[in-house]
Amino acid sequence: MNHIQGSLIYEGKAKRIFACENPDLVLIEFKNDATAFNAKKRSEIEGKGSLNCKISASLFKLLESNGIPTHFLELHSETFMIADKINVIPLEVVIRNIATGSLCRETPINQGTILNPPLLDLYYKDDELGDPILTEGRLKLLNIVDNIQMDEIEMMTRSVNNILKEYFDSLDLLLVDFKLEFGTNSSGTIVVADEISPDNCRFWDKKNSDPKQRILDKDRFRQDLGGVLDAYEEILKRIEKGPS
Ligand code: UDP
Repeated sequence: MNHIQGSLIYEGKAKRIFACENPDLVLIEFKNDATAFNAKKRSEIEGKGSLNCKISASLFKLLESNGIPTHFLELHSETFMIADKINVIPLEVVIRNIATGSLCRETPINQGTILNPPLLDLYYKDDELGDPILTEGRLKLLNIVDNIQMDEIEMMTRSVNNILKEYFDSLDLLLVDFKLEFGTNSSGTIVVADEISPDNCRFWDKKNSDPKQRILDKDRFRQDLGGVLDAYEEILKRIEKGPS
């Protein structure tokens, strides 16, 4: 269906949200802007928006086909998708299969430690506060979600992880960790929202043991490793080719 782009509702670091003629839907534009370290590091990577839009669309479809509700409806163009208009739940839900990143900076856990069961970390989604990590007590105090909703979000995140881990394994990629965001749609259902792309997932190439070369995600940008777009292209290429 052809949807008409309405007014800009919100502009984030990597996406713009536009109204569309159906009040229950939005158009999401994936931008080429790359940011890291709470937007202290910024750049523009030509082509990133379209890659992340296509990668996210494929992964949302995969989740839907496995019974996980998402906000995704359809691709609209190279850099736009149509999605449910949602009420954003201000949580960043990170799930980790292998220890790296902030977990290793902030604790004595060694890089590369396999986390079984996968570790779930919750952060409060607030740029001004720098997305601080939440304790169970702080989560309760903030009253963002009730216990039932929190259990549902945790169960959904673990299911998404199982689905994606197995899927990427079949593409010779290790799913190291990723961040999910959730919202409630017009019928009150909790859905996976935002995006699922190399901007918010860590992927390591199983075919490469070099600790820097194997990185196929935004860590290439964060760590100035170069080849950011090539890495994102490789992820889309493997998704499009399918399991070998
Ligand atoms: N992540 C994200 N947005 C954030 C913080 C983290 O998408 O604001 C993703 C990140 O890409 C990685 C996972 O969440 O896949 C865990 O990130 P971590 O806590 O290790 O933070 P970092 O090392 O990136 O600071």
